[in-house]
Amino acid sequence: MQPTCHFTVSFLNPGNHVYDIMLDVSNLPGGHHELTLPVWTPGTYKIHDFSRHLFDLSIQGSNNPIEITHAGKNLWLFETRDNEPVKIRYRVYAFEFSVSTSHLDQSHAYFNGAQLFLLIDDYKEIPYLLTLEKPGDWTVSTGLDRDHEESSRYKAQNYDVLIDTPFEIGKQNIVSFEVDGKSHQLAVYGHGNEDLARLAKDLEAIVCAERQIFGSLPYQHYTFILHLSDKPTGGLEHLNSTTCGVERFMFRPRKNYKRVLELFSHEFFHLWNVKRIHPDMLGPFDYNHEVYTHLLWAMEGFTNYYASLSLKRAGLYSVSDYLNALSKKVQDYERRPGRFVQSLAESSFDTWIKLYRPDEDSINRTISYYLKGDLVGTCLDLEIRKRTANQFSLDTVLLRLYERYGEKGIGFPESVYQDTVEEVGKSSFQDFFDQYIYGTKPIPLDDALLAAGLFIDRQYSKPQEDDDSENSSQASQTPYPWLGIDTRIVDGYKLVVTHSYISGPADTLINAGDQIIALNGYQVQKSEDLTKRLEYDHKIGDTVTVSLFRQGHLQTIPVVLTPKPFDKVRIVAIDHPNDEQKALFESWLHTPWTHSWQASGESLTSPE
Ligand SMILES: [Zn+2]
Repeated sequence: MQPTCHFTVSFLNPGNHVYDIMLDVSNLPGGHHELTLPVWTPGTYKIHDFSRHLFDLSIQGSNNPIEITHAGKNLWLFETRDNEPVKIRYRVYAFEFSVSTSHLDQSHAYFNGAQLFLLIDDYKEIPYLLTLEKPGDWTVSTGLDRDHEESSRYKAQNYDVLIDTPFEIGKQNIVSFEVDGKSHQLAVYGHGNEDLARLAKDLEAIVCAERQIFGSLPYQHYTFILHLSDKPTGGLEHLNSTTCGVERFMFRPRKNYKRVLELFSHEFFHLWNVKRIHPDMLGPFDYNHEVYTHLLWAMEGFTNYYASLSLKRAGLYSVSDYLNALSKKVQDYERRPGRFVQSLAESSFDTWIKLYRPDEDSINRTISYYLKGDLVGTCLDLEIRKRTANQFSLDTVLLRLYERYGEKGIGFPESVYQDTVEEVGKSSFQDFFDQYIYGTKPIPLDDALLAAGLFIDRQYSKPQEDDDSENSSQASQTPYPWLGIDTRIVDGYKLVVTHSYISGPADTLINAGDQIIALNGYQVQKSEDLTKRLEYDHKIGDTVTVSLFRQGHLQTIPVVLTPKPFDKVRIVAIDHPNDEQKALFESWLHTPWTHSWQASGESLTSPE
C-alpha cells in the first residue's frame, strides 16, 4: 500500500509573511525516512536553497513526538513504526516577490511549491492532497485541479505537478475566456494602467495561434497569473499555467505593451516547448542538484523565436513589427564579443554558473541561449523551408518531437534533436549544428533572410541632435569614434563603467567599476555627454584623456579612439525578389509578398 500525503497550508495572519504547513502522512512503512526540500525550481536554473526560509520543523507520531536529525542543508531524517501516522509541521517565511519564489503579505498569497512542500523519501509518484486555510474573502487562482470529493481541497497527481502549479490567492481581478471549450483564466494581482479586456482578447489570439502548430490544447484549463508591481519580475512557465510579472504601467504606449505580449506569448509556448517537449534531464526532475543539458537554446531560444512569430501569426504584430523585433535581436547579438567565445551548447550547459550569475565580463565571454537560440531558430526554420520547398519547417520538427515524446510524457536523449531536424529537412544539418550550436561561427543571418527576400542593413546610430527633433531616425553609413565602454549613473550622480568591451580601445585601460569624471580635463556627467563629445568633436585615431576614480584613486588615462561597430540594424525588403524568395517569405510569415507592408507598418528605421 502506498502512503498518502495531505498538505494543509495555513495563512490566516498573512501580515507575518509565514506559511504554517502541516503534512499528514498515512500508511508509511516503518523504518528510516528522509525529508527533502527542493534547492531549485524548474524553469529557473539557479540554486535557491529554499530551505533557508524553513523553520520550526517537528514531527508528531501516533503517541509521541519523533526525533529529527538535520542531516544536510535541505535534508532531515527520522524513524517510524510500521504504518504509524505522522504529522509533520513546519513554517516557511515567504517575502520574496518574484515569479519563481513565494510572497505573503496583507494583500495576497503567492507561492511556488518548491519553496513549500517537503518530499518524504522518494514518493514522487503518489497523489498529493492540498487544503488551504486562507482569509475568508480571498479567492484562489491556480492551474491545480480541485479534488472532486471536497471542493475546497486540491489534488495533484504527483509531486512534480504539485511543485509545478503556483497559487495566487487574494483579491485579484479575474477575466475568463474559452478556446476549444476550455476555460482560460487571467488572474491579475496589482494595478497600473492595465486594460484587462484587451489583454484577454490578445491572449485568446495567442492561444489560437500557438495551438495551430500542435493541433490541440493539451490541458483542461489554463491559468495566466499576472503580477503588476513597480518592477518587472519576468515569467515562469508551468504545465497548465504561467506567472508573468511586469511593471505596472506597461500597457501604454504600444511599444511597451508589445513587451507584455512577447512575455505572455513566450511563457504560453513553453507549455509545449520545455514542459512537454524536453530532453530527459528536464523531467522528471532531480530537485536536490543542478541538472545539465546542452539544449536550452532549443527550449528557451526557440520559445523566444515562436513568441514573436506567434504574435505575427495571431495578427497582433504587423510584418514590420516582427522585422523590427528581429532587427533588435540581430543588433544585440552582433554587439556581444562573447558570441565568439561561448557556443550555444556551452551556454546551455553552464547556465547555472554563467547566464544566471552574470557579471561585468559576461558580455565579453558569454552568449545568451535566449538571444542566439532565437536567431538560430530563425535560420533553421528558413533553411528547412528552403531545402524542402516550403513543405516543412521548424513547426514540423516541434510537432514530431511533441507527438513522439511530449504527448507521451517522456523526455528524449539530446541527439534526437539533430536527428529530427535532419529527418524533417531531408538532409544533413551536421555543419549547421557544428558551426552554430557547438561552435562559435557567426550565424548566417544575411543568407537566411536573403532567401526570404530580405536584406540586413547595418548602420551606425548618430547621437540625437537636440535642435533637429523631426529627424528621429538617426543613422549613418560612417562609423563614429568610441571608447568601447558602457556606462550608467550610480548613486544618482556617479557615471560608472558597466562593461569594457574586449574588442574596444579601452579594453586594457579602463575597467568596469571606474567612475568617469572628465574627458580631456572637462567634466562629464552623463553617458550622452560622453558619447556626443566623442562623436561631434573627435575623429577615429584621436587620443583623448579620460579622468576617472578607480577605487577612489584619481587617474588620467590616454585612449586612442577606434571606430564604433555597427549598432543599428534594419531589415528591409530587397527590390526585385524572385519567386522562390517570395514563396519562402509567404510560407514563413503567413503574409502575401507585397511592398505594402513596408509602407503601412510602423517605421522600419526605428527598431525599439
Ligand atoms: Zn522561457
